[in-house]
Amino acid sequence: MKKTLKDYKFKNKTVLVRVDFNVPMKDGKVTNDNRVNAALPTIEYLLDNDAKVVLFSHLGKIKKEEDLKKNSLMPVAELLSKKLKKPVKFVNSIEGHELEEKINKMKPTEVVLFENTRFADITNSDGTINLEAKRESKNDSTLGKYWSSLGDIFVNDAFGTAHREHASNVGIASYIKNSCLGFLVEKEVAMLEKCINNPQSPFVAIIGGAKVSDKINVIQNLLKVADKILIGGGMAYTFFKAKGIETGNSLVEKDRIDIATELLKNSNGKIILPIDSAASASFANDKPIFSADQNIDVNLMGLDIGPKSIELFKKELEGAKTVVWNGPMGVFEFSNYAAGTKAVCKSISELAGAFTVIGGGDSAAAAIQLGFEDKFTHISTGGGASLEFMEGKILPGIDSIQNK
Ligand code: ADP
Ligand code: MG
Repeated sequence: MKKTLKDYKFKNKTVLVRVDFNVPMKDGKVTNDNRVNAALPTIEYLLDNDAKVVLFSHLGKIKKEEDLKKNSLMPVAELLSKKLKKPVKFVNSIEGHELEEKINKMKPTEVVLFENTRFADITNSDGTINLEAKRESKNDSTLGKYWSSLGDIFVNDAFGTAHREHASNVGIASYIKNSCLGFLVEKEVAMLEKCINNPQSPFVAIIGGAKVSDKINVIQNLLKVADKILIGGGMAYTFFKAKGIETGNSLVEKDRIDIATELLKNSNGKIILPIDSAASASFANDKPIFSADQNIDVNLMGLDIGPKSIELFKKELEGAKTVVWNGPMGVFEFSNYAAGTKAVCKSISELAGAFTVIGGGDSAAAAIQLGFEDKFTHISTGGGASLEFMEGKILPGIDSIQNK
């Protein structure tokens, strides 16, 4: 068992908190504040317990010099300050004198947020540009050690990066004496563990998204614990191909047909494929053409599951006690091809007394965009991290935290 916030006294302590403020931004404004909201319970708990709270996160990918401007965390500091109803001091560096001084002068219940940790990916410690530096994402030990020296206790509450071995999570944790998980990570682990290690049956998994190659390991792991796996999205067509069904111009991964064949063979009938599709002549939001059966016209591509599949999936979900959903049923970004994803959302949300979890960045975004945010037991904040968790992998960001 990993240590949690309840294992420490925080009064007067400088607490380094790795949060996940990797939020979508447009024109310097945060366009979706879910991740900031998800970090509030830990931050508020630390403030209530008289800690000095030092927050940090990455934001986006930092590859070129222009990214430094585009991906500043400053707008998040302003947003957070409104939410906490108190000042959040923003430090526009990730290391050095100014940051150290600000932290040294902190009083209990004050909050500092420092700049995007991935700035270290293209800068040296003296601030000069070095596009090959990768100090954050290659877990540079000097950087991890340095950050760990800035505080007394490290709290990892960034589930979205828990599958990465970076300086701002694994690096710090391996050098600091005291560490624990934050409330968000604790909750994410509890929810996902309940599905993967201890599911109440019937357990139905719904897997979709673009590519089967992204989800092979998840399907393999879920086959061990789930009663049924409903497959939709672009990946269904590689399975169709494996069965000799006509797929037209649909997305098919030729090099994954063999593995799809094998998964079907070893699935004991647990894998359930769509029985019709909503198709289009091109990858565009055109009026859907519904296939009569699984076969897709040679000139068309399947962009969503069809109405018969919607009914079938609804039936297969009936009575489920545990449901995990990862990956949209179609190209939900096109309004004409969102029906499958929407219907699955609705079917899951209507299940009485079921434990329902969404893991997967796009599926979570789809559910929220379609208005189903409050209808699930849990919507994971981690795309890649929840996927790797469901694959049965150990997440280094969590593993590196001290045991009880
Ligand atoms: P998640 O982030 O939930 O794990 P993925 O990233 O695997 O989901 O897949 C999401 C993407 O899959 C979406 O952008 C969606 O447009 C795409 N997609 C779903 N169905 C199809 C399809 N039939 N053809 C092409 N792309 C698809
Ligand atoms: Mg995705």
